[in-house]
Amino acid sequence: MFKHLVAFAEFLLKINIMLCAEKVYTLADLKNWERREPSFAVLGKPIAHSLSPKMHNAAFSALRERKPQLADCRYFRFEIAPEELAGALPLFFEKNFHGLNLTIPHKVAALPVLKKLSPEAEIIGAANTLVRDDALGGWRGENTDGRGFARAAEMQLGATLTGTHIVLLGAGGAARAIAATALAQNCASLTVVNRSRERAETLIADLCAFFPKKKISFLSSCDIQNLTTEEPALIVNATSLGLKPADASPFPPELLCVGMAVYDTTYGSHTSALVAVARERDLPAADGRSMLAWQGALAFELWTCVPAADTSPLMLRELL
Ligand code: NDP
Repeated sequence: MFKHLVAFAEFLLKINIMLCAEKVYTLADLKNWERREPSFAVLGKPIAHSLSPKMHNAAFSALRERKPQLADCRYFRFEIAPEELAGALPLFFEKNFHGLNLTIPHKVAALPVLKKLSPEAEIIGAANTLVRDDALGGWRGENTDGRGFARAAEMQLGATLTGTHIVLLGAGGAARAIAATALAQNCASLTVVNRSRERAETLIADLCAFFPKKKISFLSSCDIQNLTTEEPALIVNATSLGLKPADASPFPPELLCVGMAVYDTTYGSHTSALVAVARERDLPAADGRSMLAWQGALAFELWTCVPAADTSPLMLRELL
């Protein structure tokens, strides 16, 4: 009888966790928020596609016996419009949220509302993780995207950024985080390849201000045939090309050669053209799910002090 009751309680808990992960909440829900237990959330617009609630709730659930103090923690998703963000962040603090993740379009827009920024987030110029700071009475901004990428590349490809020539496709938010981390970890060189020159030049100027001695160059996407690389080279796709199954490879297949490894930050239920062609050539290649899992696990570590190495495998399992 007791065994059945325990099983039933576990079942109810699973349903409760699943419901938390599925629903899309809004600012109106936040204003009426009555949950007093520690809450966490990802904020963005659109947000319905976000896999973060699944990953984080799986981690809270798996840890509830080892860390009973985390048993009541739940992670939610909120659709917050750009014009709502400045008002929403203090309200999340007031309503006892302990940690937040930011995604498109809030990673840069949130910075003026934060009480403090980590050196990493300052160099990247964006925050993807906010940590509650009661002493400051507000949010501290962190960025785990770059380190998440580094850990993912290491685990999936056996590639360390130190001493590696990095060819980075893209100059948007993800590229910024990856570039800053690669330079901080002493990559041999960094070549930024982007469609629009202006965006890439702004990124390179910002990076040079923090890393004046590093070798950083720009190549327009139109001139990519002129790319010359030394070994070991890591090709990183941080453009949006690859998100849709029909997207062409952002890197010309004929330039892929022995000694290269490929990391594509995009992910979906399909294999991107870039990853597919790299695998055809027997080159190590990975998609962005491992980066998503690692950036999530590093955020989880900032909030709970549970090492990212403990939670990243189960977060990755949720994504696979
Ligand atoms: P941004 O909008 O900030 O940047 C988009 C980049 O893609 C720009 O460099 C842009 O070039 C380029 N781009 C867009 N469309 C094309 C195209 N048709 N042809 C060539 N280049 C194009 O987006 P993010 O940096 O936030 O995201 C970029 C990618 O990274 C996304 O696919 C996202 O899924 C992925 N990502 C993955 C994460 C993970 O954990 N795995 C985390 C964050 C992002 P231009 O400057 O010329 O417009």
